Amino acid sequence: MSKCYLCGQTMVDRPVDYTLNKDKYENLAIKHEEHIIQNAIYGRLTDSEILCEKCGGKLSAEIDADFNKIFHGITEQLKHILASKDHGNNNFNRTLKGYIFKQDKTKIEVHIKEGKVVPIKPDYDFVATENKVLIYCSQKTAKHYQNKVKQELTAKGIDISKISIEIIDDISNTGELGIFFSEGIENFNSKIKLGLNKIATGFAVANGIDRTQLPCTLDIDNQKIIFTSNVVPFYPYSALDVTIEPFRVVVEDNFPTHTLILYTDNFSKNKKLVCYIDLFSTFQFYVILNQDFKGEDIQKVYYQTVLKQEKPKLNIRNTRIKFLSIIAESIGVSFDELKGKSVEDIYTYLETKYNQFTVSYELDLNEYIKDISNKASMNLLIKKSGITSHLGDIEREIVEATPEMEIDDISAMYYELNRIESEGQLNYRQNFIETTDKLEPVLYSTLYKMIELNNANPDIFKSYGHFKFYQLTQFIKMNEFKK
Ligand SMILES: [Zn+2]
Repeated sequence: MSKCYLCGQTMVDRPVDYTLNKDKYENLAIKHEEHIIQNAIYGRLTDSEILCEKCGGKLSAEIDADFNKIFHGITEQLKHILASKDHGNNNFNRTLKGYIFKQDKTKIEVHIKEGKVVPIKPDYDFVATENKVLIYCSQKTAKHYQNKVKQELTAKGIDISKISIEIIDDISNTGELGIFFSEGIENFNSKIKLGLNKIATGFAVANGIDRTQLPCTLDIDNQKIIFTSNVVPFYPYSALDVTIEPFRVVVEDNFPTHTLILYTDNFSKNKKLVCYIDLFSTFQFYVILNQDFKGEDIQKVYYQTVLKQEKPKLNIRNTRIKFLSIIAESIGVSFDELKGKSVEDIYTYLETKYNQFTVSYELDLNEYIKDISNKASMNLLIKKSGITSHLGDIEREIVEATPEMEIDDISAMYYELNRIESEGQLNYRQNFIETTDKLEPVLYSTLYKMIELNNANPDIFKSYGHFKFYQLTQFIKMNEFKK
């Protein structure tokens, strides 16, 4: 029996005659499939035991609508490569606002629609050497605007009968495209914090935490998601984080991803219940759910891609027998399952398994950490050796941009790997080895380090946030405009 975390009622399955007798069931808390990370930002994790339908609808209107709007700029630009949403209209084209940042550091306000970047205010350049006018605006605006340009040029004494006119309705090549994120959104801070706190609350309850144990994000008496000063931004500080975050766009398979880590931080005498939230591999925060948590230690992870995953197209019957093991692996069938079967049975078995196979968006975070720590420590070693001639262009760029580190930092990464391998536990975003003071290395809380840094120098978080957002928009640009 599960209770809705907001209204506290015990939830029941939808009665079969529900649509006929809605009034009769008005006060019933009916189970519904709640998206823990909002559906509109391509969250794929759902749970039917955390929120009743009514409360789900209420929070969707009060929190999700505003929260999702913050990410429109990203979801809209990425939609053809992002996972198709579970429901909702995917084809509605919204016009986005953004900036083109020009070489000379000036910026032009633009609309982004259907892959075209058009200045909001039409503009033109007269190229005297070529007797040519370049007009920057949409084709529609150009009809009227041309006349205005001709008048202005004539007024300057230019003979317009000799000039040619070129309409440029996409200025994406004239500078770097930046899409509005926090800018222009009223009450940005409260909207983003409520959305993050709702994600953290849902994930905690889905993992068995009682709703009374979430005082920082949930006001039970007033049935509301709240925020206090419980949201802390992330900044890469540990050796591993410093080495991977700047290159995540190229080194993380399936970038961009969403990550949730629910865990207990035992660093000080008051145990904290915390959820680390990482959206689009870019927006990274800690949500403290309880400053003085009395429950058992916990560590629960969810990690997914937002890239569209497609079922591999396979014709099993026409596959030669020696390739069957590869096929089996691609649809998640292990070698053991095929042992002792006749050839005919193997074909039939794989066909059945293939028909049942559905693509998964969930990924293994431990695998990612292992892979990324190996790559990162390899890059550090290559950097130390100074020999990069065997590398490809991108690899060399990464190595050259990798910060200088001591051998201690490399061993800190190996510690991370060992812990995953020996204990199946990860420290990622929770603890790290502090090596800077050259004393005995100690395990330190990443959250406490973030709080310290945030008090000492909040500006670094701002510039890191801009940097991450810029990287994501670069990724969008690479993928959006090549269609
Ligand atoms: Zn409810």
